[in-house]
Amino acid sequence: MKSGEQWLIARFPSDMVKVLVVEDNPANMTLATFLLESVGHKVLKATDAETGLALAGSEQPDLILMDIQLPGMDGLRATRLLKGDSKTSHIPVIALTALAMKGDEERIRAAGCDGSIATPLAYKDFLAPLAAQLAKSAAAIL
Ligand code: MN
Repeated sequence: MKSGEQWLIARFPSDMVKVLVVEDNPANMTLATFLLESVGHKVLKATDAETGLALAGSEQPDLILMDIQLPGMDGLRATRLLKGDSKTSHIPVIALTALAMKGDEERIRAAGCDGSIATPLAYKDFLAPLAAQLAKSAAAIL
């Protein structure tokens, strides 16, 4: 039996979820934050992988947007660590990547990412895959 709360989450999967954005590019961070907050999400920000990993563990976001090219540890390694840790392995990770070369999608999937979005971010390309991932996550808890 679904509770009313679960039904609401499933029916309105994009309402007020907590999204962690790990991104070192200020323009991408600003736009991602603006778009997410404009549809009611709470945004947690990290500009490097180490901070992102710590926030993912302590804040338990509903979704992580992970830039692949980061200073120090890159997003692929950070995603492998997240997916290998029982405290964070359940959190969907969507890669943000400026890479458009053949083979990158496979590398991104192999690292454990649940999807990817190309940067620079475009409004219509950004929110649709996000909503789809959140809907999938909401369905999984019912
Ligand atoms: Mn970057």
